[in-house]
Amino acid sequence: MKKMFISAALLLGGLLSAAEQRPQTVDGLPSHEVVEYNLSVAPAASRPKNVILMIGDGMGSEQLWAAWLCNRGKLFIQTLPQAAFLRTPSANRTVTDSAAAGTAIACGQKTNNGMLGLLPDGTPLKSLSAVLRERGMRTGLVVTKAITDATPAAFYAHVASRRNTPAIAAALTTAGFDVVLGGGAAAFSEEQLQTMSAQGADVELFAPGDCPPASRRGDLLPRCTQRALERLANAENGFFLMIEGSRIDSSAHDNKLEELVREVLDFDQAVGVVLRWIQQHPDTLLIVTADHQTGGLIILDGSRDCGRVTGVFCSENHTGVAVPLYATGPGSGSFSGVMENTELYQKILVLLGFNI
Ligand SMILES: [Zn+2]
Repeated sequence: MKKMFISAALLLGGLLSAAEQRPQTVDGLPSHEVVEYNLSVAPAASRPKNVILMIGDGMGSEQLWAAWLCNRGKLFIQTLPQAAFLRTPSANRTVTDSAAAGTAIACGQKTNNGMLGLLPDGTPLKSLSAVLRERGMRTGLVVTKAITDATPAAFYAHVASRRNTPAIAAALTTAGFDVVLGGGAAAFSEEQLQTMSAQGADVELFAPGDCPPASRRGDLLPRCTQRALERLANAENGFFLMIEGSRIDSSAHDNKLEELVREVLDFDQAVGVVLRWIQQHPDTLLIVTADHQTGGLIILDGSRDCGRVTGVFCSENHTGVAVPLYATGPGSGSFSGVMENTELYQKILVLLGFNI
């Protein structure tokens, strides 16, 4: 009888261990100032010159509200005037992974979990960055994990498995991005890195693998965001820049609430850099969203006056909920209500005047 009880407990433990269910409190993190810019929702018909897409990997609403509490009731992301939800299921699962979700956002089509830039039957898809580059726009990627990781790779690779790092690295080498900043240097040969730089791109990979967590990364993401904007600012035909808060996902997988909040606050500061830049470049559409929610975070308590949150994770994996989307600038009015994650692709192309 006792043995049976232990087996049942072990079985349940595989889903949720006692440690994972224990609430965690984050208190007294340094908060950042949030400037309330005069941001507009422009009509759906107005045309942007530049598009900046910021993806918090694994950043569901709960992640945002946890960070909002810790930053004493303010976030740059929460100042964006337009909001919507994105449905996230992939072609074969209710709960997506970053490869299928990245492909949905980058290529406008649902695919199976694990696949990048391909339909489930293996048909290659053209990513937003590839289409826009062909039309004369400049393109960039800024991330905090390896640049070959699933989310950025969805913008240039066509592989059946997100684990096929050599093929992903080879695809980036010839893709033609103007800015490539992040981690993952070990996936590239010296020759590949030189090939990218020789094409005139601003390429710097700061770590052999993923960049360190926010607590040990300093202001790398906000700095790289500023650097990418300066590099792309003079693009005659505009630019498309994807910026990812990549490690929000990892910290939620690890069920580490403090690390998670630090990652969201870091991402929010990168959003702040973009909003400041937009004041001088109002012909820019900014979209801030996520690929899926990670960790099943629930907020139990907190205080925005004290900068404190108490929360509990109920999963070590992704979940199937819709994720928030925020937007500002020309065309931001066309992002509203509940949308499929695949709709971003077509909407962005139409707004830029490329009705394909
Ligand atoms: Zn994940």
